Amino acid sequence: MIVRTRFAPSPTGRLHLGHALAARVAHDLAREAPGGEFLLRFEDIDGPRVREEFYQGIEEDLLWLGLRWDGVPLRQTTRTAAYEAALDELRAMGLAYPCFCTRREIQAELARMASAPQGPEGPVYPGTCRKLGEDERRARILAGDAHAWRLDSGPAAQITGQLTFRDLRHGVIDVRPLLLGDIVLARKDIGTAYHLAVVVDDASQEISHVTRGEDLLSSTHAHRLLQALLGLPEPVYLHHRLVTDELGHRLAKRSDSLSIAAMREAGKPPHSLLEELGPA
Ligand code: GLU
Repeated sequence: MIVRTRFAPSPTGRLHLGHALAARVAHDLAREAPGGEFLLRFEDIDGPRVREEFYQGIEEDLLWLGLRWDGVPLRQTTRTAAYEAALDELRAMGLAYPCFCTRREIQAELARMASAPQGPEGPVYPGTCRKLGEDERRARILAGDAHAWRLDSGPAAQITGQLTFRDLRHGVIDVRPLLLGDIVLARKDIGTAYHLAVVVDDASQEISHVTRGEDLLSSTHAHRLLQALLGLPEPVYLHHRLVTDELGHRLAKRSDSLSIAAMREAGKPPHSLLEELGPA
């Protein structure tokens, strides 16, 4: 098996130390394997926050760090047809339903519920639109009501049966298909969404090892479910620790002082920066 990894930043800012660790982990895993490949993918579907200057800025940051990628970077914005095809497949299986809820309506519904369904980061979608009848769905779509598409994760999990994934740090993990609730497959505004796009692209780029921060561990449960439904191969995972600031907070794009560009300007040598990040 060829080890193929990817670094998948969103071009919504320059890279910071957290990204440097993510990129180093993916890069090293590929470079340590004979014939391994390290790919770069721009997760640029997040509409208004994406800025053209950041594609080049990110490439510059990676090259300065000495983390050279193979081939031409993939942009998710060029892949909408593939995401639509995957969504169509899930719709044809009867596993995707339109969701007309606004954020406010979801909040109100959750507040009304005696026990709101919980995910790792708080309440998950309460399932309001799952209960709509076919006629109402059709009428509202025909009337032009804005809608997202969600996975009907209960029946989806019944179809796949129990799944697992293997993580190089955490071992074999049993998939909890309902962990994130009925995830969004296509957002109202952009016609696709992170979970679906990442699964479709990892398969199409033949990524053997998906490396990413521990904050995305819960997403992997949903990703394995989607992979099984769509008949896509199962990658090996490596969820690495997150880089935190001196207060123990996760780094965000706004932590400009910790940006790679700022450190470069301050005269920091790239190899010592990468070393100081410590083990994955
Ligand atoms: N685009 C995501 C990020 O910037 C990474 C996605 C992934 O590795 O699955 O954190």
